[in-house]
Amino acid sequence: IVRWTPFIQEFKRRKYPWIQLAGHQGNFQAGEPGAILKKYDKHEHQSFNKLMVDVLRSYVPEYRGEVVKDGECYLQLQDLLCEFEAACVMDVKMGCRTYLEDELTKARQKPTLRKDMYQKMVEVDPGAPTPEEHAQKAITKPRYMQWRDDMSSSTGMGFRIEGIRKSDGAQVKNFKTTKDRASVKTSLRQFVEEHPAVVTKYVRRLKAIKVTQESSPFFSSHEVIGSSLLFVHDRSGSASIWMIDFGKTVPLPSSVQVTHRKPWQEGNHEDGYLTGIDNLISIFQELLKD
Ligand code: ATP
Ligand code: MG
Ligand code: MG
Repeated sequence: IVRWTPFIQEFKRRKYPWIQLAGHQGNFQAGEPGAILKKYDKHEHQSFNKLMVDVLRSYVPEYRGEVVKDGECYLQLQDLLCEFEAACVMDVKMGCRTYLEDELTKARQKPTLRKDMYQKMVEVDPGAPTPEEHAQKAITKPRYMQWRDDMSSSTGMGFRIEGIRKSDGAQVKNFKTTKDRASVKTSLRQFVEEHPAVVTKYVRRLKAIKVTQESSPFFSSHEVIGSSLLFVHDRSGSASIWMIDFGKTVPLPSSVQVTHRKPWQEGNHEDGYLTGIDNLISIFQELLKD
């Protein structure tokens, strides 16, 4: 359990520690009131430009343009936390894999061996590396990412929990091996246990996101990898969900069409995003009945 905040945010004369559940510590800063700055990324910039004129617009943070600060370029984004008080937050990384087909191709052409990723793998499961990987004490990045997807619920369920922050400020991030449906369900139940009434709102919002994605020109023309759904609620009973993180959301080759549901095979670019939403909806609906 960690309690860490990258900066103090101010909105409508209220101050609150901002919450960051994933990503590098230095990637975010306070922006204008009600906004944050995220380190510039070309794919994310292009995605936000298109999303602002897509039907999905109301399900993503408002994009307020590029900002240069201390010589660094940032994207200014609506702070999704600014209307909440002592927010409970959950980051759910969507899709059945978290690396682009392109990353796989590049790594194959020019494999670089990573000792740090080998270390991380051995810490979780000393038996995971092959004899060859043990000998070189290093693995390639796609190998590591594939293993992480398989260890977690990504491959099997089309999503994994990246982090949860409860209203008392406690943050939990140890979901790396939360894999089967029952343990995922337990974690989701713990996230909403203080405010069970928000589950109905989450189910409604997930369904709205799903049907909008199914009709979105943006969604049908992109491979959506490493993107998250950010769940936010507080004790007033407000609750909502937004799509965030488009650094690995890339246009599909014009000859390729995806369902976001069919199993992935190299070359078909399927990401399993809608499979993940289907599973999330079904688990939250079960929580309503329990
Ligand atoms: P990674 O690719 O490793 O997931 P990243 O640097 O691309 O990280 P994001 O995933 O976009 O960063 O965001 C990291 C965290 O910051 C999220 O888990 C969430 O807690 C918070 N966050 C991101 N964007 C917003 C936003 N617009 N409003 C509120 N919180 C946000
Ligand atoms: Mg992320
Ligand atoms: Mg990212």
